Amino acid sequence: MDLFTFVKYFEKMISIQRYLSPEKWETLVQSLPYKLPTAILGHSVKGKPINGHRLGTGSKKVLLWSQMHGNESTTTRALLDLLYHLDTAPGAALLKGLTLMIIPQLNPDGAAAYTRLNANGVDLNRDAIALKEPESRILNRVFENFTPDFCFNLHGQRTIFSAGKWGKPATLSFLSPAADEKRTITPERAKAMQLIAGINKELQPAIPDQIGRYDDTFNPNCVGDRFTSLGVPTLLFEAGHFGLDYDRNFTKEMVLKALIFALNAIHTDGYLNHTVEEYHLIPDNEKDYVDLIIQQVDVKTEDGVYKNQELAVQYREEKTDNGIYFNPVCHSFGAKLELLSHRMANAKEILETPLIDFSLNKSIEIS
Ligand SMILES: [Zn+2]
Repeated sequence: MDLFTFVKYFEKMISIQRYLSPEKWETLVQSLPYKLPTAILGHSVKGKPINGHRLGTGSKKVLLWSQMHGNESTTTRALLDLLYHLDTAPGAALLKGLTLMIIPQLNPDGAAAYTRLNANGVDLNRDAIALKEPESRILNRVFENFTPDFCFNLHGQRTIFSAGKWGKPATLSFLSPAADEKRTITPERAKAMQLIAGINKELQPAIPDQIGRYDDTFNPNCVGDRFTSLGVPTLLFEAGHFGLDYDRNFTKEMVLKALIFALNAIHTDGYLNHTVEEYHLIPDNEKDYVDLIIQQVDVKTEDGVYKNQELAVQYREEKTDNGIYFNPVCHSFGAKLELLSHRMANAKEILETPLIDFSLNKSIEIS
């Protein structure tokens, strides 16, 4: 493979699916086979409507929101599939037992710009007490008025996470956030833990050893910690990586499976059959992965050339006109890297001269 082809190899790394603008989302919702009940809950910094969808007539109430971080679209896409599911017979049964409040894009400005932060540059998941941002205030008001029995805080995570040290990629990760500094297992936390333990058991056959559990250090500025401390079991869902599925279509299916299972388990109280101990057996989320390791490469730096190295490459997600481009940037190099990767390549096989310029966090360049 020559230089040109090598560069092309990366250029193919564009995902149309990962970019979900509010306009695209609106089109998807319009094509549902039923009219989705919609209320405008308020507006974002840039004046975009933030919609809520209230469904069901049951006594148990679940509040779900996604894309609080605008570039985390996978769980929103799973919510669309959930909305289709709710139109089936099992879905209708679910809506007899539950009342759902779904906010699919809490941060529509971030969704449009493909940024984690809102239009004021604020991480909404650190604004749970200050409530400086309109999006945070909207969520907080819905939380107070709707008085949920459970909350689902739906996110997406980067490709770097493994389920346990040197484990498989964390395709899904969960957390029952702490309610205080001591990380007391309050009755509400225990419920969230039991429910996550149930989801884990349900999903293991589909993604064995690919479910992780987040660290529960207390941060009252995070929404999940805040809502848990206010006495409502809150589950953090993180849609992660699987194989080379950079579109995250498979992950989306797993999120849907997790959502349907979790809602049924709340409806039937089935989650009570699971234990806090089972929750703690889920392996910790660790940061072990890069996207690509190129072996047998000569690495050129300001200090000189290092022969026969391993070069770790991380893809930086960038919004383009066509979708999300995965820009390969230099992560690290060494004779033998202590890292796992989603893909391996051998420079000798793909380059005529296996020499790559290294510049930390810069796009890779071939000399
Ligand atoms: Zn997030």
